[in-house]
Amino acid sequence: MLLISVLMRTIAFLLFNLKYKIHSMKRLLVLFSILALALSAQGQKLPVAWDELTSPDFIKAVKQSNGVCVIPLGVIEKHGPHLPLGTDVFSARSNALLAAGNEYCIVYPYYFAGQIYEAKHQPGTITYSPDILYKLLDETCKEISRNGLKKIILYNGHGGNTNFLQYFCQAQLAEQKDYVVYLYSPETDVEARKQIDAMLINKAGEHAHEEETSEMMIVRPDLVKIDQAITQSGADLNRLSLKDGYTGIWWYAKYPNHYAGDAKDANSATGKVVQAHYVKQLTEFIKTVKADTDAQPLQNEFYKESASPLNTKVKN
Ligand SMILES: [Zn+2]
Repeated sequence: MLLISVLMRTIAFLLFNLKYKIHSMKRLLVLFSILALALSAQGQKLPVAWDELTSPDFIKAVKQSNGVCVIPLGVIEKHGPHLPLGTDVFSARSNALLAAGNEYCIVYPYYFAGQIYEAKHQPGTITYSPDILYKLLDETCKEISRNGLKKIILYNGHGGNTNFLQYFCQAQLAEQKDYVVYLYSPETDVEARKQIDAMLINKAGEHAHEEETSEMMIVRPDLVKIDQAITQSGADLNRLSLKDGYTGIWWYAKYPNHYAGDAKDANSATGKVVQAHYVKQLTEFIKTVKADTDAQPLQNEFYKESASPLNTKVKN
């Protein structure tokens, strides 16, 4: 709109001047400069990706984002015999970029350090020690905050990260922070779930399965080797019976091939619906976080009280 109005006014002014034969080259030059400036301002849309911003533009981006940054988290792990090792990183980053395009915020670069010990026996998996994993994410958040972004959304694309990230959020209360870490953990959208389920031919599984493979056909179709999907079993081998219990080897006991499901019927039509749903939900969450004015003051109140618990007042 700004561009059109500047353009119209400039043309009108030029025509007016020409009509009365005012041939001032200087005036024309000034007008063209204004027009060029308006055009370049219009064409400059700030990138959402942290790594694509220039340093001066980063300052504008922090302002425009209301201090919100999304970290798209994944890992480098086997995804059956047919998907790339970076599947979770690719999909998390892609969804985050699209959602940030809908509701402006800054998207942190590819974050591939995650909990994935259960796939350490598979070629290409990258694992770090538990303390490094924690420290790396903690220092990443501190760096994000130091750069002026005080609301950090953890957007996780990897199921194996869930418990680690919840613990990470709980542990934010251990020491005072001038920023808030929000873990995106949406409730199931029943309608979207129904729509996706109706499109799936094989609903079984939860890793490199039909749904995830379909999504990758949208995110990185060039990397999906769908003809390979049947070369290994993604069936639940159920090799450990532990009713009412949990132990770390549970996943390996079920899916030693690190493939859970049957992806042979994956297709891009399903992938399109899956991705649209993810992006829509994340966009809403970014809006929610932008609007939140309660979490940081509550954190501050809590830190103050936890420094001298004997003075903590009862609240009603
Ligand atoms: Zn995955």
